[in-house]
Amino acid sequence: MTECYRCWAEVDLNALRGNLAQIRTLAGRETKILAVVKADAYGHGLRQIAAVLMQSGADVFGVANLAEARAIRAVGQGWPILMLGACLPSEVGWAVRDHVMPTLSSYEEAVRFSAAAVWAKTVVSCHVKVDTGMGRLGALPGQLPELLKAIDQLPGLTVSGLCTHYSSAEEDADFTAGQCRQFTALLGDFTAQGRQFECVHACNSAALLRAPSQPFNMVRVGLLTYGIVSEGACERAATGWNLTPALSWKARVSLVRYLPAGSPISYGHTRVTTALTRVAIITAGYADGYPRAASNRAQVLVGGQFCPVLGRVTMDQMVADVSAVDQVQAGEEVVLLGRQGNEQITANLLARWCQTIPWEVLTNITYRVPRVYRGGHAA
Ligand SMILES: *Cc1c(COP(=O)(O)O)cnc(C)c1O
Repeated sequence: MTECYRCWAEVDLNALRGNLAQIRTLAGRETKILAVVKADAYGHGLRQIAAVLMQSGADVFGVANLAEARAIRAVGQGWPILMLGACLPSEVGWAVRDHVMPTLSSYEEAVRFSAAAVWAKTVVSCHVKVDTGMGRLGALPGQLPELLKAIDQLPGLTVSGLCTHYSSAEEDADFTAGQCRQFTALLGDFTAQGRQFECVHACNSAALLRAPSQPFNMVRVGLLTYGIVSEGACERAATGWNLTPALSWKARVSLVRYLPAGSPISYGHTRVTTALTRVAIITAGYADGYPRAASNRAQVLVGGQFCPVLGRVTMDQMVADVSAVDQVQAGEEVVLLGRQGNEQITANLLARWCQTIPWEVLTNITYRVPRVYRGGHAA
């Protein structure tokens, strides 16, 4: 008896290594790479991914919370870690203890970090953010010089980075270029005053790929690391670059049935067969993270062919029309995301079917789905 998974994700670590090498070329030798590994490394599994990225030349890690920072520290010591969001007041002491660099937008945050640093008898390295059009984190451009001056007066803090965030790098190159110009101008003012920053960063994957912005001296890449290029202009910009999706998502056929014409399918009978239909019951559902929005919209690969999802996706199972596939057997593999034969379902394609974005598709894959690694373990 061999045990096999019902629903699992395969992560190709060699694809990840290759993607990082491509990013290195894109960004230039002099540019640092901050690998964004928040949300369990975009659903790929933080520990394994961090280990591979450490060996493949990532310079800094970007996280969304302190548990992620701790997981990185458990894999390898010494890498700088930047908290991408604002730290809660209750997290400040822990961030200082774990040497996680905060992203600061305000004087209040700086005061809290200064106090914690003094208490811990240490110096906290921090990145100051400026809001050039994202409206989320960052000081307003007019307030930035004042804020930096004030932070300079606080004990226990050193400003090692200056950054901003593009809100529309995937869809609006002009807006991004405007944000870049504003950031560059601010930077120019500081340079004129003789002030340098160790890390200056603005670009996410799309901004790096489409280059409506210069990379400054560090880029923050998430999606591209995992081998996914968002649709449209990014895809055009990526031609010639060799980026490979690292993650494939699979399930199995548990049962094959024939349903006569007029058969209702799944909850709410949102689908009724119009002819004799061969259906496969598939061992994946929304509890695995397969989008319920995929109901009656998405397709899966069975026997190397696209097969429509019929009716609503349920918690643990779903139904696909496999009438067009030659032979379908219980136990065989179904591809939800990735390649089978000559066909491929990309995260972009599944996202489009479900009216969402590839980031959400990946990060919604739940804990129940084991991640299986190929291409040499690193951790
Ligand atoms: C998540 C995140 C990124 C990565 O964006 P991608 O489009 O996935 O490359 C970059 N910067 C910040 C601040 C982020 O939070």
